[in-house]
Parts: sequence; structure tokens; C-alpha cells
Amino acid sequence: MGQALAVSYVRVVGVERITPRTARVTFTGDALAELMEDRPDQQMKLCFPREGQEGAPRLPEPDADDTYGMRWYEAYLAIPEPERPTMRSFTVRGYDRRLDVMTVDFVLHGDDGPAARWGRDARPGDVLGMVGPSSLYARPLPAADWLLLAGDETALPAIATLLETLPAGARALVWAEAADAAEERPLGDATVHWVHRDRGGSLADAVRAARLPAGSGAAWLAGEAGAVRALRRHLVEERGLSREAVRFAGYWRRSLTQDDAPTEEDLAWAKEQAGEG
Ligand SMILES: Cc1cc2nc3c(=O)[nH]c(=O)nc-3n(C[C@H](O)[C@H](O)[C@H](O)COP(=O)(O)OP(=O)(O)OC[C@H]3O[C@@H](n4cnc5c(N)ncnc54)[C@H](O)[C@@H]3O)c2cc1C
Repeated sequence: MGQALAVSYVRVVGVERITPRTARVTFTGDALAELMEDRPDQQMKLCFPREGQEGAPRLPEPDADDTYGMRWYEAYLAIPEPERPTMRSFTVRGYDRRLDVMTVDFVLHGDDGPAARWGRDARPGDVLGMVGPSSLYARPLPAADWLLLAGDETALPAIATLLETLPAGARALVWAEAADAAEERPLGDATVHWVHRDRGGSLADAVRAARLPAGSGAAWLAGEAGAVRALRRHLVEERGLSREAVRFAGYWRRSLTQDDAPTEEDLAWAKEQAGEG
């Protein structure tokens, strides 16, 4: 029998604005100690109550042998739309095993998304549903002489955890895109090249202008899908990184919500990620 899909509830214990547009929210939860792994880049889905719904969002119970959560997801989709909790992807920024507290950084992106709105107004005692994280989705970084990490604000929690767990002596180069200088934050033991959108910067342009080290390189890229695509193309086509050495993920799509169907481009990209493109 496989490992069951983890569906749990987490309760807010603290909220802090670490930058003008980032809410750092700390949570407790009965299942956290069991669910949290000692690995970087743990991804999960948070489930938010619909506007007007009081209390905790209501989620289906998972079956013990529903490893990939297919049956659970069908039951979730069967909840009538006006009552169905909104599900969005997030990263575990940290877990303090002594205090049993998980930290998540919410980008307050200003668009009217339910997750960003919730992060803006979060208060101690608020409850969210959580699906995952699961080691089924853990992917080790490719081995190379140096590692390039790049992403926008949504990817900074993952980049910070990746930097925290790199082996001693590993060479990491970081490009971090943010709205402006006020969004900068410490990310760990690496030189971070900040790229500010208010000054017209983009990740692809910033990396294009950089001198990359000699030796073999690998990359981890995440953020707005179009920006990630452009940077990946540059690294593979112009810098000669092998496709296998570039891990990439679109964390959000401009003008589309996470509920919107995949575009043609998303589907082509998913094929490439699966190594079929
Ligand atoms: C694996 C993974 C891990 C992630 N980790 C984090 C994390 O730790 N913290 C975090 O904040 N986000 C993270 N994200 C991104 C987050 O899931 C998306 O930004 C999500 O769309 C936010 O939901 P929403 O309800 O606020 O907006 P949605 O309802 O999904 O979208 C509403 C509108 O807002 C726009 N929008 C969405 N996100 C942004 C943005 N960042 N900047 C500008 N416009 C935006 C959309 O284009 C759309 O027009 C992660 C995504 C993935 C796939």
C-alpha cells in the first residue's frame, strides 16, 4: 500500500509584514510534526475558505490508499463551486521542530487573488486546509560545479531553503526579482543579484548580462511562467546548459488564476518537463 495523501488543517499563530508586500505567517497544526520533512523546497497546497464562509474550510477525507490523491481530488471537485475551498500552491519557508511551527511567506501581489487577499488580512486563530507536502514530489538538484538559482518573490521561500541546505563549499549564484528595493530580504549564504521591476529589470536580461563561471552549471528557476521560460531558453540555447541540468517551474501565470485551464504553451511546457519535448 502506498503512502496516503496528507490532508490536514493549520492554524495561524503569528503574522508579520517582513517587507511591504510580504506577509510571513506562522502556523501550528496537529499533523505538522509528522508531515514536515528535513528537506528544502517542500511544496503544498493551502485551501482557503470562500469569501463569506465562516471558520475552517471543509475538505473531503482522504482514503488510506489514494497515494496520488486522484480520488480525493475528484471528491474536492464534487463540492459545489460556491462552497469549494480555493486551493493554491505554497512553499514551506521553514519548520521549527522545537516549537512545532511552520512558516509560509505570502506575496501580497495586489491582484485580487483569494490567497493574496487572505495573506493580507490573516489573523491568529484563522484556519486553512493543507494538502501535502509530500516527498513524492521531491526532486534532487542536478549535480554541477555551480548552481544558478533564480526567481521572483513567489520563489524566494524555496530559494532560501535551497541555500540553507547546500553542501559546504557549493557555489551558488542567485538572481532574485522583486517589485522594488523595499522587497529585498536576506536569503542565506550567497551573493544575491537583486533585479527590480520598478527599474525595468527582468531575470533573463540580468542573467544575460552576467559572466557565468567556468565548469559545469545547473539551474533552478521558478516564478512567473513567461519569465521562467525566457530565462530557461537563454540558459539552454545561449549558455549551453543541458536541458537535464535546468529545473524549472511556472509558479503563476499573468492574468490567469491557478484555477484556469492550462494554455497550449503550458501543455507544451509540461511535456518538456516530463522529458518528452
Ligand atoms: C510549487 C509552487 C510554490 C509556490 N510558493 C509560493 C510561496 O511560497 N509564496 C507565494 O506567495 N506564492 C507561491 N506560489 C505562487 C502562488 O501559488 C500564486 O502566486 C497564486 O496564483 C496566488 O494565488 P492568488 O489566489 O493570490 O491569485 P490567483 O487567484 O491565482 O490569481 C489572481 C490574479 O493574480 C495574478 N497573480 C498571481 N500571483 C501573482 C504574483 N505573484 N504577482 C503578480 N500577480 C500575480 C494572476 O495572474 C491573476 O491575474 C507558488 C506556486 C507554486 C506552483
